[in-house]
Amino acid sequence: ISSVELTKIALERINSIDDRLGAFISVYGEQALEAAKDVDRKIASGEELPDLAGIPTALKDNMNMKGTKTTCASRMLENFVSPYDAGVTERLKENGAVIIGKTNMDEFAMGSSNETSYFKKVRNPYDLERVPGGSSGGSAAAVASGEVYYSLGSDTGGSIRQPAAMCGVVGLKPTYGRVSRYGLVAFASSLDQIGPFTKDVEDCAIVLNAISGKDERDSTSADVKVEDFTKYLNRDIRGMRIGMPVEFFGEGISEDVRKIIIDAVEVFKSQGAEVKEISLPMSRYALEVYYILASSEASSNLARFDGIRYGYRAESYSDAVDIYTKSRSQGFGDEVKRRIMLGTYALSAGYYDAYYKKALQIRTLIINEFKEAYKNVDIILSPTSPTTAFKLGEKINDPLSMYLSDIYTVPVNIAGIPAISIPAGLSNGLPVGLQLMGNYFEEGTLLKAAHAFE
Ligand code: GLN
Repeated sequence: ISSVELTKIALERINSIDDRLGAFISVYGEQALEAAKDVDRKIASGEELPDLAGIPTALKDNMNMKGTKTTCASRMLENFVSPYDAGVTERLKENGAVIIGKTNMDEFAMGSSNETSYFKKVRNPYDLERVPGGSSGGSAAAVASGEVYYSLGSDTGGSIRQPAAMCGVVGLKPTYGRVSRYGLVAFASSLDQIGPFTKDVEDCAIVLNAISGKDERDSTSADVKVEDFTKYLNRDIRGMRIGMPVEFFGEGISEDVRKIIIDAVEVFKSQGAEVKEISLPMSRYALEVYYILASSEASSNLARFDGIRYGYRAESYSDAVDIYTKSRSQGFGDEVKRRIMLGTYALSAGYYDAYYKKALQIRTLIINEFKEAYKNVDIILSPTSPTTAFKLGEKINDPLSMYLSDIYTVPVNIAGIPAISIPAGLSNGLPVGLQLMGNYFEEGTLLKAAHAFE
């Protein structure tokens, strides 16, 4: 099949279902077909092309692609056109990818249900009355529904893994620094990381190959060797040590999710893995630490949206302060404002020591606890999320219950380790995700275990 044919199939699928699904904010049909033609031409002339060449994909709408809009699903950036390509966009283009459009998300990646998008909700392909998870819900739904063959999302506290779990696809958050954040609109810079959504583990390895590696333009990007991650597929997992932290199976987990995860553990055991119970007591504080650190960093990162430099500007104003106030009041949605206020509070004089500094100290304890744990296990296993996809509207007016949806995913970002969510089964027709967490830069071990499970 030619790339043009493949691209047409994807575009037709988007055309026929996305009205109902809401996964895309922008679709660039003509541009994508041009890119596809280019690939077909190269193939016809006998050129050797990379694995991803000619395959349609989509980017979460917080990643820049030159000459197209990057909205972050916000009124603030509704008409913002990016003058440059993000690091990952460049990488995908070099690999011949056909970028078909930009996917819907929670506003500025803040949310767990995709309901905070300024434009529209995304619906779960398994049940249109339910959320796809968030914040990369559009990227997850687009892959799950067959609109594209893979996509990219960003994960600050679970935004790749949780929607992957709820939509029944594979989602990987790489080690912090593995993938360039250059050109990703920053939410919480010390936690943000870009990663793939794919249909299976093999595709995940292939996409990770393409997007990994040092980028001088991101000072936190790590200078580690990029391996060929496909070499970890089809490997024996005998003797692999898998830890199950008791804290990830306690209160709050729904019974059906627990059952499916416990069954999944048997699959690893039957292949010779050694499964043991472990304890990560500091992870109990991860959610609180996350919401203080992520909001603090967000309050600083989002200060650039002042109504003057770029983005939305209020129509009438009296002076500079009035421009800031009105533009930000009108340009940001409720959840974004909540985070900015929380973060500003945590960073303000008198509260810094009590909240921000304390959160950083606990972060160090969480990091140390993971490092200690990886002396005894190769992988840590848990559910990705305590529940399956919930109903649209169910949690949107109760931020605390929404935040609980990330309880198993945020410790990973706080520590900066890699983690993957893979489909583990269905409960009442809804997907349940299994999370595997690895040591720093050991995505290979994760892929090996995930592939053995699949
Ligand atoms: N749901 C979490 C939040 O709202 C995580 C978001 C993310 O990973 N981008 O902050």
